[in-house]
Amino acid sequence: MGHITRVHGPPPLEPSARPEGPVELATGGERPPSLYLLPAALQTIQEHIGWGQVTEANVMEQGGLLIGRAYLDAETSEPFAVVEQVLEAHTASSTAASIALTHDTWADLLARFDQLPPPAAGPPWRIVGWYHTHPNSIPVFMSGTDRRTQQDFFPGRDHFALVLNPQRQQWQAFRGAECVECVAVALRAPETARVPRDAEAAPDTVTSTSPPRGERVAPRRLRRSRGRMCRRAALLLLAAALAWTLYRVVAWIRRPEPAGRPIGEGDQWD
Ligand SMILES: [Zn+2]
Repeated sequence: MGHITRVHGPPPLEPSARPEGPVELATGGERPPSLYLLPAALQTIQEHIGWGQVTEANVMEQGGLLIGRAYLDAETSEPFAVVEQVLEAHTASSTAASIALTHDTWADLLARFDQLPPPAAGPPWRIVGWYHTHPNSIPVFMSGTDRRTQQDFFPGRDHFALVLNPQRQQWQAFRGAECVECVAVALRAPETARVPRDAEAAPDTVTSTSPPRGERVAPRRLRRSRGRMCRRAALLLLAAALAWTLYRVVAWIRRPEPAGRPIGEGDQWD
């Protein structure tokens, strides 16, 4: 059985730092996660199973394989897995209460696994587990059939099962042959910071050394700099008015005596 070798005989785990980023979904409590889903993998699963919807397809059980890499936590040596992509099972024979990974289903999934382009860096792809749905009103847990599937194909500490209910938007992760409930997080793609156009156009805003942080911050900075310019202009006007008044006062004081004194320069303003 080719898949048994593939699932049971992976290369040893390498130490690695854990993935970081904003979390979209989390399940299983506050402990360090054992399973991470990268944004693309979460999106594929959610689209496959119609997360948050009721569709003709998702009222039956659906499932597939979790593909990624498993590592050892660089500090604690605890194994954890990162799901980077997903292979949807197309040929699973399923009902509203069960999914069967038949020989044909496995053959199709493993053929597609073999065709995956190798990762750009790091260790090769591994099958780190499987996912399937418990649709409608069925809670997310590992049934007797699910446990047998897990023990047969995914018995390692770095093998996981995800059970999801798309209608109730519930999910749970389980680990290894014992199907121990564990912590899983799905990461959200971080939003790209955009530089607003008016901030680029206003040279007054470039006085700060920190990079632009986004649309909510820059307009406030702009308003502040416009206020500063107005105050400066008002001060200049006031200074000019004071200078003019002072000039007139001095000129008035130094105005010539009526009897034959030479005319001062300031007198031309009188
Ligand atoms: Zn199940």
